[in-house]
Amino acid sequence: MKVLVYGSGQLAQMMYLAAAPLGVSVQAVDVNTESVVNPLDKSILDISLNDAITQADALTVEFEHVPEHLLKHASNSGKLYPNIDSILAGADRVREKALLQAYGIANCEHEIIRTVQQLDGITERLGERIIFKASRDGYDGYGQWRLTSKSQLQALIKEFQALDLDKVPLVAEKMLAFDREISLIGSRNKQGQIRCFSIAENLHHEGQLHVSVAPATQIDESLQTQANEIFTKLSEAMDYVGVLAVELFQCGETLLVNEIAPRVHNSGHWTQQGCHTSQFQQHIRAVLGLPLGSVGTYGVSAMVNIIGCDDIDNGLLGLDNTHLHLYGKTVRAKRKMGHINVVADSHQNLGASLLALTKFLPMTHFPQLNEEAKRLKNS
Ligand code: ATP
Ligand code: MG
Repeated sequence: MKVLVYGSGQLAQMMYLAAAPLGVSVQAVDVNTESVVNPLDKSILDISLNDAITQADALTVEFEHVPEHLLKHASNSGKLYPNIDSILAGADRVREKALLQAYGIANCEHEIIRTVQQLDGITERLGERIIFKASRDGYDGYGQWRLTSKSQLQALIKEFQALDLDKVPLVAEKMLAFDREISLIGSRNKQGQIRCFSIAENLHHEGQLHVSVAPATQIDESLQTQANEIFTKLSEAMDYVGVLAVELFQCGETLLVNEIAPRVHNSGHWTQQGCHTSQFQQHIRAVLGLPLGSVGTYGVSAMVNIIGCDDIDNGLLGLDNTHLHLYGKTVRAKRKMGHINVVADSHQNLGASLLALTKFLPMTHFPQLNEEAKRLKNS
């Protein structure tokens, strides 16, 4: 069987690797050149996009910002999973919020800003701490502006006047003092079978994910059930097929959806070694209508992103239950270069293993790791 993935970055690469043992071959589309490439070495394959679409059993995406004309073309084949509406909802915060509201799924208090005049009195309505998010093309914290006091509003309004808010509105969200960020990654296959992975706990730095721990610490069954219910409600309502990530804010026992990603997700990379079935293989299974795999875990896992650096000491390869995944990219500031998965039999031992790992990493690029390792070790 064959799957064609729109987008040719690390997520397509990891889908390729996970699909191979099932005898499934994965090709990728470079959405800039519209050529069909090998997801591993990015070499251009001798096949037209149309022929690749015809030959594929399923088409899918590795990111939601695929140009709309390509998505429509893919959707016309009748083989695009998840469906185009789900992908577009993930790419546009206005559509995403409308979807959450329509299905009564709790999310942050917000307003859609289409003209700067709407900012009059906004701090009276949402409070002085507001996060403004461009409705499209934002990721890793890009396309966001933070207001922490009313006195900054005038300067922000000036900045927003230069934007085309009619074309790309902003979502103004009340900044939440949440307890922590977690994510629920689940999958639904063509037959409607659903499996959710254990909740991951996510640490961000400057809007970018740095560390995930899964299963998260201090998760009782009811929280996992609540998250699974959100997933089921959303995925069934959207007639979603594939892996879907739901980013959540935890406030006490309450879960609020921050955003959804209609694809495999960085906070699910731990499943490669920490789970019976990885999210990448689960996605391939789902879009091909194969039975979903077990979501049982091998102990507890941490995923550490390698961001903006490539001077990793290969000595870490000698550490027990520590797995390096490099994406083969050239280094740039804030660029995700790879990740490291660490598996242990308890959160305490996971903390100890992460502390051992820090000896092999340029720690200025891992601002959260030391503290997180100590927290886990003493948990
Ligand atoms: P991603 O890379 O996950 O796609 P993103 O740039 O699309 O990120 P968000 O996930 O919306 O954007 O926001 C990035 C981070 O900013 C969140 O993970 C969280 O740490 C913080 N953040 C976002 N919204 C809020 C909010 N309403 N209150 C407090 N913090 C927030
Ligand atoms: Mg996010």
